Amino acid sequence: MGQGRLLMVGAGLSGAVIGRHLAEAGYDITVVDARSHIGGNCHTERDADTGVMVHIYGPHIFHTDDAEVWDYVNAFQTFMPYKNRVKTTSRGQVFSLPVNLHTINQFFGQTMRPDEARTFITEEQADTSIEDPQTFEEQAMRFVGRDLYEAFFKGYTMKQWGCHPSELPASILKRLPVRFNYDDNYFFHKYQGMPENGYTDMIGKILDHERIEVKLETVFDRSQAGDYDHVFYSGPLDGWFDFELGRLGYRTLDFERFTYDGDYQGCAVMNYGEVDVPFTRITEHKHFSPWEEHEGSVCYREFSRAAEPEDIPYYPIRQVAEKALLSDYVKLAEATSGVTFVGRLGTYRYLDMDVTIREALDTARGFLADRAEGRAAPAFYQAPL
Ligand code: FAD
Ligand code: UDP
Repeated sequence: MGQGRLLMVGAGLSGAVIGRHLAEAGYDITVVDARSHIGGNCHTERDADTGVMVHIYGPHIFHTDDAEVWDYVNAFQTFMPYKNRVKTTSRGQVFSLPVNLHTINQFFGQTMRPDEARTFITEEQADTSIEDPQTFEEQAMRFVGRDLYEAFFKGYTMKQWGCHPSELPASILKRLPVRFNYDDNYFFHKYQGMPENGYTDMIGKILDHERIEVKLETVFDRSQAGDYDHVFYSGPLDGWFDFELGRLGYRTLDFERFTYDGDYQGCAVMNYGEVDVPFTRITEHKHFSPWEEHEGSVCYREFSRAAEPEDIPYYPIRQVAEKALLSDYVKLAEATSGVTFVGRLGTYRYLDMDVTIREALDTARGFLADRAEGRAAPAFYQAPL
C-alpha cells in the first residue's frame, strides 16, 4: 500500500519529473495525456524514411547553468555535445547570430577588433539616451541600434509575435546576448547538449517506474479528480476552469514539413529576419544530431500566428490584457483545492526545459514537505504573476 494516489495531467517534462519524484517517495502515480505519445512539446520521433530524429513540435536544445538539473537529465540519457549556432538571412545575405563581431563586421563591411566594434556600436549605433529599456524595441535600440534592429529583429519579431516590438516587453530580447568577439554560441549556459536517443526516450525512462502508470489518448476532465488524493495539472490554466472567464492568449506555430535528398541548408536553424518572408525560420533536423549520418533530410518551415481554440498553445502572450485575465484565473485557482497547477501551460509562463525540470523538482519536494507537516498543497508552488 503506497502513500496515496496522485494524478499527473500531462506526460510532458512537468508530469514526468513530478510523477517520478513522488513515485520514488512511495505514491502511486497515474499520468494521463490527451496525445498518443509521451513527452509533451519536447516529443521526438525518428522519421521512418530518412532515419532523422525529428523534433515534432519544433526544435529543442537543452541548455542550463543548473548543475542538479544537468545531473538529473544525464541520469536518464547520454547527452551528446551540441552547440546551437544560428544563422539569419536578411537583405540577400546570410549573417551569424546572436549578434557578434562577425555579424557586425559583415553587416557594416568593416574589419573592427572587439574594442573598436564596442565603441562603434555604443557611440554610433546604440541609442544610449534610453536608460531603462521597457519595450523590446527600446532594448534593441539601446544595445544594437536601429540598423541591426531593423535587419534582424523587427521583422522577425513582428512575424513571431504578431505585433510591433514596441508593444512587447524588453525581457523577450534580453534572452539574446550581444557579443564583441567571434563566439557564435546562441546560449551562454555552462551545460548544453542533445539527448542521444531523443527527448521522448529520455522522458520514457523518467516515467519507467513500478509505481507509475501512463494512460495515453486520455483527456482529463475534472470529474476524474475525485479518484485521487491530489492532482498535478500541466494543461492550460484556463482550460481547468472551462475558460469561464475567457481565453488566455497564445501564439501557435504551423510547421510546413518537407524532405530533401542531401543537405538542404547546411545548418540546423536559419532565421529569416525580414517581414516579407512569411515564415520565421527553417529548421533542418538532422543537424540537431551531428553525431549521426543521414543522406535524406527533414526540414520544417515555421509560421507563427494567434492560437485559435483548437490549436496547440505554444507561446503565452502575457501582454497587459492577458496578465489581467491571468490574475483573475490565479484567484480562482487559489480558491480551488485538490489541484496544483504546474509547467508552461499550468502557470502560463514561457519555461525552458531546464527551468521546467527545476520547478518540477521544487514542486515535488514542496508537496512532500507540505504532506509531512499536514498542510494542504497550494494551487501554485511557482507564482504565475
Ligand atoms: P508540455 O510539454 O506542454 O506538456 C503538457 C502536456 O499536457 C501535453 O502533452 C498535453 O497534451 C497534456 N495535456 C494538456 N491538457 C490536457 C488534458 N486536459 N488532458 C490530458 N492531457 C493534457 N525549451 C528549451 O529548453 N530549449 C528549447 O530549445 C526549446 N524550444 C522550444 C521550442 C518550441 C517551439 C516550444 C513551444 C517550446 C520550446 N521549449 C524549449 C520549451 C519546452 O517545450 C518546455 O519547457 C516543456 O515542453 C514544458 O513541459 P511541460 O510538461 O510543462 O508542458
Ligand atoms: N528574435 C528576433 N530575430 C531572430 C531571433 C530572435 O527578432 O533572428 C527575437 C524574437 O522576438 C524572439 C526573441 O528574439 O521571440 C527571443 O529569441 P529566442 O531565440 O530566444 O526565441 P524562442 O526560443 O522563444 O523562439
